Amino acid sequence: MLNRWQTGPVLNASALDQLVYQSRMVGEEESLVLWGGGNNSVKEPALDLLGQPVEVMYIKGSGSDMKSIVPAQYPAVRLDWVRPLFERDEMSDEDMVAYLARCLMDPTSPRPSIETLLHGFLPYRAVLHTHTDAILALTNNEGREETVRECFGDRVVLVPYYLPGFKLSKAVGLAARQNPDAEGLILMNHGLITWGNDPQEAYNNHIKLVTEAEEFIRAKRNQQFQGAPLFPASPVVEPETIAPILRGLLSADKPVILEFDNSPETLEFLARPDLATATQVGPATPDHLLYTKRFPLVVELLETSPEGIRNNLAQALGRYAAAYQEYFAANSKAGETMLDALPRIVLVPGVGMWTLGKDSRAARIVADIYRHTMQIIANAQALGGYATLSPENAFSAEYWPLELYKLTLLPKEKDLARRIALVTGAASGIGRAIARRLAEEGAHVIVTDLNGEGAELVAAEIRQKNGLNRAIALTLNVTDPEQVEAAFKTACRTYGGLDILVSNAGIAPVGAIDKLQLHEWDLSLAINTTGHFLVTRASLDILKKQGIGGSLIYNATKNVTAPGKDFGAYSVAKAAEAQLCRIVAIEGGEFGIRANMLNPDAIFEGSSLWSEDLKAKRAAAYGISVAELPNFYRQRNLLKAEVTAEDVAEAALFLAGPRATKTTGAMIPVDGGVKEAFPR
Ligand SMILES: [Zn+2]
Repeated sequence: MLNRWQTGPVLNASALDQLVYQSRMVGEEESLVLWGGGNNSVKEPALDLLGQPVEVMYIKGSGSDMKSIVPAQYPAVRLDWVRPLFERDEMSDEDMVAYLARCLMDPTSPRPSIETLLHGFLPYRAVLHTHTDAILALTNNEGREETVRECFGDRVVLVPYYLPGFKLSKAVGLAARQNPDAEGLILMNHGLITWGNDPQEAYNNHIKLVTEAEEFIRAKRNQQFQGAPLFPASPVVEPETIAPILRGLLSADKPVILEFDNSPETLEFLARPDLATATQVGPATPDHLLYTKRFPLVVELLETSPEGIRNNLAQALGRYAAAYQEYFAANSKAGETMLDALPRIVLVPGVGMWTLGKDSRAARIVADIYRHTMQIIANAQALGGYATLSPENAFSAEYWPLELYKLTLLPKEKDLARRIALVTGAASGIGRAIARRLAEEGAHVIVTDLNGEGAELVAAEIRQKNGLNRAIALTLNVTDPEQVEAAFKTACRTYGGLDILVSNAGIAPVGAIDKLQLHEWDLSLAINTTGHFLVTRASLDILKKQGIGGSLIYNATKNVTAPGKDFGAYSVAKAAEAQLCRIVAIEGGEFGIRANMLNPDAIFEGSSLWSEDLKAKRAAAYGISVAELPNFYRQRNLLKAEVTAEDVAEAALFLAGPRATKTTGAMIPVDGGVKEAFPR
């Protein structure tokens, strides 16, 4: 493993800054820590509230991510209050957390890592702890102790498996005191601890041991690996066909977001002859269990029709849930409430790996962890067979009260959390406002537009504001059937399916009927009618495969109910769109699929529908100047209000979400009140 430390950036830096730098170097290396995993500390003299000298320990805050950590995420705890705990024989998790909260130098700092005592009990200034892949491959195999000894001899100390907490911390403190010459501590089925006089030395020692472990494993694998890995035949079913069926089955209780991975490394692992057994041993370290559950689900697809796939998946999920219930019943002793019985990882040999979560970020964390678990399993198999936590230990890690408590602190989910929306014409105007609003309310958004660059700007803004992978952008011409098919496949591949369609893309050609060119007429019908048909057809295919309902929202126009002079090509095509919406409401009802439309009027700001040319023509038609248009339209409505894209987005949000579950086939004007256009 590459030692990334460069002295320059932290020359003469404070101990805390050196620690932050160490974190970043560790976080850069995914095989050392993933997401919130790992922790580090440094002990320093400080002054307490009364100006008295005390020794404190800066320790990583619970759950913070090493690769992006900042100094404020390191609470300082008083060591003169932490060290006496070492004399105790036991301490409950709750007492430990409460005690540590009172050892904080600054009571407003984040909660210190659950492994704080482990750091505090070690008689070394700088301590680094990771759940590194290479060490887990050494400790997670049948031969464990002999394997570790063969690699490191007596230079490291082995600590038996305990759930993180007081017991583990005490065992670590004792082991270090009894072995003052040790270069590091290896925690069985958990990870590695090294130390030094400063963060750099602790880091160097860590990288040195990890590198030795990696070389040891490589040599073993070279000796034992015979022949090329078995690569699967090309998949018989496209992942885009499987994804919505799988998502529907997994979403019976609450919808989930999927992530898909069919990288060569993953497909190679899925082609292992021992896949069915090697994946059913357990997580590499207790920390992973909370994300991955104990086992992934392995499904061999025997059929290729959507119905056949559904049967295969449903049966496999049923078996998984039954086995989980059995494991819960066998290990639950303290009246715990059973968590959901869904897998977090679904492995389909020859096709790929799906991971799931409440959002894209959660699904990504599971995917990252399992990609590393696959490597650990492959390496441990080469070292004599993958072995890990017993069912009892796995259960106590999964039902650890401290972790269950964290779940109760989660904020209430937003209305569109766990939902996937595709919006057409979303690079500007109403489409952009709707994409932003749905994302703000929790949805994952596929931002599509003929203007791909504009769509990318909107998607990038949503990701920046709402989180990892929360939006993607696609160039989409809604009149092109192939592009439409491809866009919906991308939705299935990226997020697992679809819940909401906002069919918004449109144009507004102007001209009296006797002056209209055929191509103008055709173009309006192609975009304002056929475009809506194509995206509707593709959406319905996915929604029916999922079987969990859905909401289709059409941006129609006030012209549907009150057509305007010189708007023939537009109004005729839009009337067809409105009729399409009603037919979808009729045909979709039995599947829980709703279809509704919005009738906005006169929205100028940020709109690409209202070209300068169109504004000039409408102004001329009313005998006013272009500058007078907004006020003209405002005066025309009952509320004398200027209608904005954001107003339309609020109505779209209502129709998309749980507040409109009994509304279908409806038309909602967002026009400030135009009595000629009242729906009737
Ligand atoms: Zn740990």
